[in-house]
Amino acid sequence: MAPDRFSVGIDLGGSRLRGGLVSQDGQLVARVETRTEADRGVPGVLANLKRVIAQLLDSSDPSRVAGIGIAAAGQIHPATHAVVYAPNLNWKDVPLRDEIESAFGLPTYVDNDVRAAAWGEYRFGVGRGAKSLIAVFVGTGVGSGAVVNGMLLAGHDNAAGELGHTQVVMDGLPCLCGQSGCVEPYASGSGFVRRVEAALAQHVETSLAADIGGDPRRVTAALVERAAAAGDALARLLWTDAERYLGMALANYVTLLNPELLVLGGGIMLTSPSLADALAEQVARRATVMSRGVRVAVAALGDSAGIFGAADRVWLHL
Ligand SMILES: [Zn+2]
Repeated sequence: MAPDRFSVGIDLGGSRLRGGLVSQDGQLVARVETRTEADRGVPGVLANLKRVIAQLLDSSDPSRVAGIGIAAAGQIHPATHAVVYAPNLNWKDVPLRDEIESAFGLPTYVDNDVRAAAWGEYRFGVGRGAKSLIAVFVGTGVGSGAVVNGMLLAGHDNAAGELGHTQVVMDGLPCLCGQSGCVEPYASGSGFVRRVEAALAQHVETSLAADIGGDPRRVTAALVERAAAAGDALARLLWTDAERYLGMALANYVTLLNPELLVLGGGIMLTSPSLADALAEQVARRATVMSRGVRVAVAALGDSAGIFGAADRVWLHL
């Protein structure tokens, strides 16, 4: 039997930097996690990244490592694999692939982090065996990746899947992207923070004020869900909006792509497991009748999905 071959998978996020050594058949044989330290600028983050990759390479016979896949939070140039723009890292036009290839002499590929996580779930997570799936991750923001008949949708500018910036409310709440009425201000961690902040500024009565000690940055989805269940009017409005508008966006997505499986992941899905049931119910009600057979499942790989996805994308390029 031929010895296993491996690739390095990196998930480069705004706060955490995670890496793994993954065999071609999807076994995670080494894992390293550290802080990204985005505040140290591009050279500081690259130094951390190279240290993580070196540690992972040291854990194996280097001749058996075929390449490096990086999932980075931001827009990735489809040809050069440079990071065009990454607000969480505060990066613009960073030639990430060239930097890592010249440092390690291994073929290197960079994908968007959410798309890579969707690929990870498709290949080795809850989507294993499915041919077409949509994976939606709800946390600080809302992102997604879609695999249709075995192909990960990238789009012309490598920007497909921005579900958080699809519009669900005419002239609705302003979004950080500059538009209004997007999903994200209604159904994300950052959206809850900003809505509570606005409500407190208008002296709206809410039990959330005591929960967060008056500091809107401490608002979490779990707190909103709990206060809503206890009958707080503001929290009920926020939670109901999140379910409705995210449910609407998911139903539209399912109607458009007709996937076999809808994967729900991200921090909020973990802390508020009942949200998945509410969203599944919305999709079953709102999606076109031809697509209502879609299965809904919670993501299985947690915060390792990006590592698996990035590592596995290497084999597609070689
Ligand atoms: Zn937006």
